[in-house]
Amino acid sequence: MISRLEELKSKCETALQNADTVSGIEDVRISYLGKKGVLTDILKGLKDLSNEEKASVGQAANQIKTQITDAIDAKRHALERDEMNAKLVSDTVDVSAPGVGRGSGASHPLHRMEKLIVECLGRIGFSTVSGPEIETEFNNFEALNIPASHPARDMHDTFYMKDGGVLRTHTSPVQIRAMQTMAPPLRILAPGKVFRCDADVSHSPVFHQIEGLLVDKHVSFAELKGTLEFFLRSLFGDSKKVRFRPSYFPFTVPSCEVDLECVMCKGKGCGICKQTGWLEVMGAGMVHRNVFKAVGYDPEEVTGFAFGLGVDRLAMLYYQISDIRLLYENDARFISQFKGAA
Ligand SMILES: [Zn+2]
Repeated sequence: MISRLEELKSKCETALQNADTVSGIEDVRISYLGKKGVLTDILKGLKDLSNEEKASVGQAANQIKTQITDAIDAKRHALERDEMNAKLVSDTVDVSAPGVGRGSGASHPLHRMEKLIVECLGRIGFSTVSGPEIETEFNNFEALNIPASHPARDMHDTFYMKDGGVLRTHTSPVQIRAMQTMAPPLRILAPGKVFRCDADVSHSPVFHQIEGLLVDKHVSFAELKGTLEFFLRSLFGDSKKVRFRPSYFPFTVPSCEVDLECVMCKGKGCGICKQTGWLEVMGAGMVHRNVFKAVGYDPEEVTGFAFGLGVDRLAMLYYQISDIRLLYENDARFISQFKGAA
């Protein structure tokens, strides 16, 4: 029996020498020391031997088991070390190679434009308020003097929600919410996304507006003109000409469109301004008394003016971007050009 054990030991040692991977070592371990391993079998058979044999064979078997276990562990550690060393050699890292840089991002021009507008008008006391993008029809239309039968409803190409709400078609409903919750005087800006159900090369179904509202006693059209001239000249330069043309909006009367001397051709006429020398940049007017009535303000007590402008269009003029789609393509190469811009 002892000689069988010795033979087993030398066979195992040979098998270990031949094993050249960690998994090969594991196979050797299982075949000798596993539940059904050769040595395990012998140890199980000890109980059938005579007491005398049991002592001598048992001692020898345990000794050999310890030796085999140690040999397996030693070989495994050696192989693991070799495998690690081989990996370290093949996976060399050139620490002197230049890294793959991740440049810092840049704010989107729309975001920059909005910030500039808010900062500029903030200097003359306008503070920013916000409202939800899903609005009630009352806040988006009725309260702004656009009843259901009003033809202006058709102009708005509205997205209607299943529950009766609408995606706001302009930021004007934020004025309504502000006036419903705050007493005059009021001087607010409402920047945000607005939605219209039309999309083609020059229209996006979502775009950005900023709405301004000033309400106080005895506010006049002269103050509207002064405020908007200050605003446009702060952004585009003191020498820029600004003109006001009569227009129509349901929620203001009188209403006007505000034109800025073309930023490309400086008034001479070019493709951008369609040879007129002027660019239409915003709409404005004195708040309609029906709007004051809808929010519980007394139109005999207060007057006010409101203005609204498209941030996308203003950003295109300010940064001289030729194609509106560039603003929505999210191309990092385009956006990174505005790093460091005002
Ligand atoms: Zn021009």
